[in-house]
Amino acid sequence: MKEAAAYGADKIIVVDGEEYQHYTTDAYADAMYALVTKYGPTTMMIGATNEGRDMGPRLSCRLRTGLTADCTAVDYDEETGNIAWTRPTFGGNLLATIMCPDHRPQIGTVRPGVFKKGERNEDNKPEIITEDIHIAAERIRTRLVEVLKDLDAGDVNLESAEVIVSGGRGVGGPEGFEPLKELADLLGGVVGASRAAVDAGWIGHVHQVGQTGKTVGPKLYIACGISGAIQHAAGMSGSDVIVAINKDPDAPIFNMADYGVVGDLKLVIPELIKQIKESRK
Ligand code: FAD
Repeated sequence: MKEAAAYGADKIIVVDGEEYQHYTTDAYADAMYALVTKYGPTTMMIGATNEGRDMGPRLSCRLRTGLTADCTAVDYDEETGNIAWTRPTFGGNLLATIMCPDHRPQIGTVRPGVFKKGERNEDNKPEIITEDIHIAAERIRTRLVEVLKDLDAGDVNLESAEVIVSGGRGVGGPEGFEPLKELADLLGGVVGASRAAVDAGWIGHVHQVGQTGKTVGPKLYIACGISGAIQHAAGMSGSDVIVAINKDPDAPIFNMADYGVVGDLKLVIPELIKQIKESRK
């Protein structure tokens, strides 16, 4: 709630209760349905997280309205009030823009990281409304038995990272990620990866950037040995500054890069690390 306030919410509606302690489709969808029915919003944006992706369709179906899932860009038509929701389609080879002109609310699940965070303002004081909504226990058909932590996940938080050094097939193997990790550490960043590198088993899926990975928006994204396929671009094109290191001058990644180095990453990255270290002496 504090976070929503600091980032500019005008009103925050709080629904609290034992049944919301852990996410369940039934309890959360029921509570949201009650809120939508009462407040009649014209638009709903839900985070395309595991939970949001689960609850959104349930809600839209119950409200008999449309939902555009997993959007990577959002635009607004002031005249009609329609949102233009953009999402990858046909295996990520096309970007489709979808509108829902005839039904309200228009709902979309939007990938974390798609919007740039605004400035924090601790002085923003939203109106807090408390709604007393409770769901009968027998209506909740699932029960949380145990939470298993993904031990491979580590503490990678790509979505909030300011610097990401990503590796693709061009790094050549799991050991190819070591220099990238060193570079990321030097820059206070984290390591990302293309799907090719993840599918090869060189690095865990939590590091994957792109359509079927994370959408990121760091200040600096360094793509090493990544060709720049549209499915990868879908997850990182919102980065402030993109640096590409690739030995192929025609690699599509250079079309979206602010800075490009044509060369073998096995030579370029150690040199980059050396020069950063020297500049800090
Ligand atoms: P490649 O395309 O093989 O590129 C490797 C690059 O490394 C080349 O440009 C090469 O010139 C360069 N290189 C090689 N050796 C060196 C060297 N020594 N020094 C410098 N450069 C070198 N991909 C994603 O990344 N994320 C996704 O979320 C994703 N989702 C997908 C979803 C669907 C439905 C589909 C169909 C595909 C998806 N893909 C995704 C896969 C995507 O289409 C590409 O296949 C993938 O991004 C390619 O990864 P890459 O750039 O590492 O490999």
